[in-house]
Amino acid sequence: MNTQTTSAVKKALDSAQNIVIIGHKNPDGDAIGSCLGLAGFLRKKDYSATVVMPNDFPEFLKWMPGCDDVLIFEKQTETVKTILDAADVIFTLDFNALNRSGDLTPLLEDSEATFVMIDHHQQPDDYAAATYSDASMSSTAQMVFHCIEALEGVSEIDADIATNLYTGIMTDTGSFRFPATTATTHRVIAQLIENGAVPNVIHENIYDTASQNRMKLLGVALDNLTVLSEYRTAYITLSQEELDRHEFRKGDTEGFVNYALSIKDIVFALIFIENRQENIVKISLRSKGPFSVNEFSRKHFHGGGHNNAAGGRSLQSLDETVHEFISILPQYQKALIDA
Ligand code: 5GP
Ligand code: MN
Repeated sequence: MNTQTTSAVKKALDSAQNIVIIGHKNPDGDAIGSCLGLAGFLRKKDYSATVVMPNDFPEFLKWMPGCDDVLIFEKQTETVKTILDAADVIFTLDFNALNRSGDLTPLLEDSEATFVMIDHHQQPDDYAAATYSDASMSSTAQMVFHCIEALEGVSEIDADIATNLYTGIMTDTGSFRFPATTATTHRVIAQLIENGAVPNVIHENIYDTASQNRMKLLGVALDNLTVLSEYRTAYITLSQEELDRHEFRKGDTEGFVNYALSIKDIVFALIFIENRQENIVKISLRSKGPFSVNEFSRKHFHGGGHNNAAGGRSLQSLDETVHEFISILPQYQKALIDA
């Protein structure tokens, strides 16, 4: 974190009485880990800090230290409104446009609080008094570490804070293998281990706690896999009926899209998941190399994210969405073959 941003963060914290830390809608390991890690640090510095999420987070994250204190706007609406009213500083973590905070968006837009953004997605909006934005970073959790470092607080990182930040970095880097994983990422991880994070326990908590239903659903997803070799593309579909048959719970499909990307010579992978409740098809897009799924999703599927990992949605049926996707692909054939 550069000196200018450090000064801006210090200034925001200077007179802070009630700090609220917010992650994005459908929070993932990085959103929860970075928010809980920062909250833990700020509390050590004697600030009052509350973590708020727009909606609930998946079961496989519900062991993270301090996660029971996270307020869920969807469930604790009135409490969150009161807390946001009293907030003088709001940290927004792991997102960079207020509309990524779901139903919290109008409350944040109307808030008088001083905003601090810490985020690693591309094209940040300009709403914060202090913006720490760096799309080259592995994760927001790594950036929270660098923020703590800039505030000369590394010695304050206890085992709980270290565990939360480690989990954020691990989940967002696909266990330290995505391209944004750098030597610095590993140095940060080393420091977190020194401060009490226990890697094998964290990996087991995240990756070895699947339900039988999730594994069976993975079987269905792999069965539905379609490979379009001429576009170096592979995609998976899951219908609402298939989800229902396996008692789908939030987080169950996490990582499924990576199986499509793991096929030799495939550089573009997607999963289309029907969501009848919200009347959308949720899309996760992943790529290898220069093909930008961020741009692809922004242009065609109302979404965005990073170069190699993005999300999006379609308002059409599952079949129509896939049809449309296939009709768009030829425009990208050259880019995909050259990727
Ligand atoms: P996922 O496929 O896991 O939902 O999302 C992949 C990445 O893209 C995550 O970093 C997520 O935060 C980001 N992302 C997902 N949906 C959207 C979206 O609608 N807009 C933007 N800007 N980013 C998104
Ligand atoms: Mn992230």
